Amino acid sequence: MGFTVVIAASEAVPFAKTGGLADVAGSLPAALKRLGCRVIVFVPYYREVAQKGLEIEDTGLTVPVNMGRRTVMARILLGHDRGVPFYFIRRDEYFDREYLYGTPEGDYFDNLERFTFFSRAVLEVIKARRLSPDIIHCNDWQTGLIPAYLKDIYREEPVFSKTATVLSIHNIAYQGQFPASFYDVTGLGLYLFNPEGLEFWGNLNLLKAGIVFSDAITTVSRGYCSEIQTAEYGYGLEGVLSRRKNELTGILNGVDYAEWDPATDELIPANYTATDLSGKSACRRKLLREFGLKAKASRPVIGMVTRLAGQKGIDILAEAIPELMQLDIALVILGSGDRSYQELLTALAKRYPEKLSVKIAFNGGLSHLVEAGSDMFLMPSKYEPCGLNQIYSLKYGTVPIVRATGGLDDTVKDFSEVGGGNGFKFTTFSSDALTGKVKEAVELFRDKKAWAELQKRGMSEDFSWDDAAKKYIEVYGQAKARLLKT
Ligand code: ADP
Repeated sequence: MGFTVVIAASEAVPFAKTGGLADVAGSLPAALKRLGCRVIVFVPYYREVAQKGLEIEDTGLTVPVNMGRRTVMARILLGHDRGVPFYFIRRDEYFDREYLYGTPEGDYFDNLERFTFFSRAVLEVIKARRLSPDIIHCNDWQTGLIPAYLKDIYREEPVFSKTATVLSIHNIAYQGQFPASFYDVTGLGLYLFNPEGLEFWGNLNLLKAGIVFSDAITTVSRGYCSEIQTAEYGYGLEGVLSRRKNELTGILNGVDYAEWDPATDELIPANYTATDLSGKSACRRKLLREFGLKAKASRPVIGMVTRLAGQKGIDILAEAIPELMQLDIALVILGSGDRSYQELLTALAKRYPEKLSVKIAFNGGLSHLVEAGSDMFLMPSKYEPCGLNQIYSLKYGTVPIVRATGGLDDTVKDFSEVGGGNGFKFTTFSSDALTGKVKEAVELFRDKKAWAELQKRGMSEDFSWDDAAKKYIEVYGQAKARLLKT
């Protein structure tokens, strides 16, 4: 018999997205369902969800959420995706905003309140609907309080008597830290505010709450799973994680080939497969036209689609640009995020208008075109928990050039490796290492036969969800077993 699983996530495709979490929360549910689980997903009802115009009904249900100093009502809406119900927590004061978490200038000031509200509303709906889940699968700091609630305020609720919690860490650098003076917003007992609980160097830390109180923890690749237990990558939580290493598992994200497959993708001008790549040239032409660059068969097109954040290696890229621009390449970048990076890249594009084009936007359709129309895909990340774009790139015959970190290291093998690899990989986080690797790729691009082989090797790989979903079900089983023992 399959588990009843509630997935609580702060974003999910096709409803709202800023990054990889949305891809996972949108496609893991359907994969779990295929394996016999009953899955229900919870997401905030952002302005973005409303604007998508997807079919969403008002359930008529309103639940009260105790926010420490006041009780706030949540309205519950319901939509579906591939047969999976998605409940939306509506409170316009919190979620009817232009962005999900903050503007290019920084985070919203009331994120603690917003996501405490979301987390508790999820539990209140489970109560109201008597869902009795086996598992509540939480994701990142936004839902990190849920495991703490189940061990404290909701401990005696019969509806949760058999519920175990699992926390997935998609990015440990974002922890949801807030001044201790706001602790009462959570409504949790003060006895939990100590270094063994939610306290982190005097602050309240929501991700830590999830790590400490969940029955199992996962992260999104095996490489990142080891990395986050070290001081270099753990962002201060390495000690807490190491203490729970027996309950911590790295599961590489799957990808949804119903959305990301050049053979069927409806967002690109021509479809293609590993045996007939001819459609890729039409995609390439359209991409260069969109970005205002000249097409030339001999000149490789290097694409990037990225959040503009320090993590993504924008600094070493900017430093490398003068030398990269000496090469016969076209570089197209689609990105949005920190104001300073937006300005830096826009200024560089003005300096090299023949070879570099930057679009500051978050645009799903265009991201598919960059994947399909580029010859190479660049991800010079400082750290990368999983990374999805390199996996999409492999499927699109777009050879990834990545830094060897986290999920990038797990999924990309350098072409010099035995068997020929599937991309290009550099180790040192520096502009020199980046430039050196791009030069190797540009060099190999001239050898049409070797290049075609490299493309085909990547296109034949399979990162679909089935395996990953099975591993999640194993972790759910372990979490339940642990719960029964306590
Ligand atoms: P992260 O979650 O750290 O941003 P991932 O590689 O795991 O990185 O996932 C990023 C996802 O967000 C991919 O699906 C990618 O295509 C998408 N994405 C990132 N930036 C943009 C953008 N500017 N426009 C459209 N999609 C984007």
